[in-house]
Amino acid sequence: MEEKKEKKHVCTVCGKPSEATICHACEEKIRGEALEKKKEVEKAGRTDTGRR
Ligand SMILES: [Zn+2]
Repeated sequence: MEEKKEKKHVCTVCGKPSEATICHACEEKIRGEALEKKKEVEKAGRTDTGRR
């Protein structure tokens, strides 16, 4: 059997075969984490300005 080393696109996050650099599952996960971070920042900013 011949194994050709083809450049297969894999997800850079989970390493699973994906057409995109980041698969949909990881993309959604990253998006969710980013949203959570944004919420935390907004919350922190709000409490900070509220207490001062
Ligand atoms: Zn992935």
